Amino acid sequence: MSEADIPLVVAGLRHTFDLGLTRPAAWRRSQLQGLRRMLVDRGPEFEVALYADLGKSGTEAQLTEIGFLIAEIDHALAHLAKWMRPTRVVAPLALQPASARVVPEPLGVALVIAPWNYPLMLLLSPAIGALAAGNAVVLKPSEVTPETSRAIALHLPDYVDRRAVAVVEGGVAETTVLLGERFDHIFYTGNGRVGRIIARAAAEHLTPITLELGGKSPAYIDETVNLADAAKRIVWGKFLNAGQTCVAPDYVLGRREVLARLAPRLADAIHELYGNAVQGNPDYGRIVNDAHFERLVSYLDAAGSGGGEIVVGGGRDAADRYIEPTVLAGVPREAPVMRDEIFGPILPLVEVADLDDALTFVNSRDKPLSAYVFSERAADRLRWERETSSGALTFGAPVLHLSVAGLPFGGVGESGQGAYHGERSFRIFSHEKAVLSKPLQPDTLGPTIMPPFTAAKEGLVRNWLGRLR
Ligand code: NAD
Repeated sequence: MSEADIPLVVAGLRHTFDLGLTRPAAWRRSQLQGLRRMLVDRGPEFEVALYADLGKSGTEAQLTEIGFLIAEIDHALAHLAKWMRPTRVVAPLALQPASARVVPEPLGVALVIAPWNYPLMLLLSPAIGALAAGNAVVLKPSEVTPETSRAIALHLPDYVDRRAVAVVEGGVAETTVLLGERFDHIFYTGNGRVGRIIARAAAEHLTPITLELGGKSPAYIDETVNLADAAKRIVWGKFLNAGQTCVAPDYVLGRREVLARLAPRLADAIHELYGNAVQGNPDYGRIVNDAHFERLVSYLDAAGSGGGEIVVGGGRDAADRYIEPTVLAGVPREAPVMRDEIFGPILPLVEVADLDDALTFVNSRDKPLSAYVFSERAADRLRWERETSSGALTFGAPVLHLSVAGLPFGGVGESGQGAYHGERSFRIFSHEKAVLSKPLQPDTLGPTIMPPFTAAKEGLVRNWLGRLR
């Protein structure tokens, strides 16, 4: 599709929406079922594409992308009728007789812009919400993972209503053209720099946005937990997708002696999950491109000169874009690796004096997408809950909160705005319309709130106000 075609595509979707084709429950169901069928039929092709783009193993692709989406579709199909139902609210006595309800209605034409790290899941997961809510939708996959982008553009039109769903492939140029168009909601997942570009473009049309951004998600650990068990969970969350996960634990905070005991447990866990020869293990992914590879290697190169010490891993192979699961110990808080989100398989261990120091450190930085706490002390866990702010907080296990459909998935502050998954995905792409119905007779308004304001009416109003005070 050329850039010149993009406005025509968006106009076509708007025409479809205006005709009302996307509103019926049956249409919405058929789109969700179509997406589901595509994921099942074309699962092998998507696995191949994800492997080509990210070295993602088939099992990981099924767990974190394809299977995750199928579960989400099934949840939406099971609950759609309930979500679509108007909710009755009570009209105040003074307005009676009257009835009031909230009616969810589709917004119109939505735009979903996805990043490269879970290129299928992060494109289609918002799309499930948009279609369940009865919208037309433009899907813009990431150009950084071209094989997955191509597979989506190739297969999706065979399974959904082409009049209402379009895939626009491309990078900055195509996205810029898209952002010049008027949408009714823009759902963006990616980094905060582009998030600001999206917010500015959306402001032109007063388009509501959801921004799913990233940042440095901390993990905190103390001596009360079984370090081997905790290490295994941290290693899994960190090295999944070779560390290229928005909710991966970015770094670990703990007291010096705890971290000293944790480091060998992390090494054991890496060995347990990925074996001796990690590079040859098909379960371990690759860095998405050379630019990200070089960025990550610069953190490894800084080790030993103010960037901490490599205590586990450190190997790399540029030709294969492979970086070994790596742990850095004794990392200063101002080290380069502690500035931006790492987004790769490097785990810094950062010493804190105590819990207060850890809380102060986390609170001095941007609000993270998630925070992970490993502690058996209930009082300390409560302090994390009450004294820090993050998109999510989980105790004992990283990453998993996003698979709980009832939990909002999203950030706060620099890590994003708005949250989705489950019913929230439907609500994001719906307008909640207030509907009030009051019969013309009996006329209860003339004798109460309309001029002329006789002494009797004034008495009524003052009486009412008196009761409000
Ligand atoms: P990316 O480079 O694929 O960019 C994301 C999207 O923005 C792409 O579709 C791209 O085409 C588009 N884009 C890039 N530059 C643009 C521009 N100048 N104008 C308009 N559009 C533009 O992905 P990324 O940003 O590198 O993704 C990684 C970031 O995303 C990390 O910070 C990560 O934490 C975050 N992330 C967040 C979540 C979440 O759910 N909160 C999930 C995954 C990733």
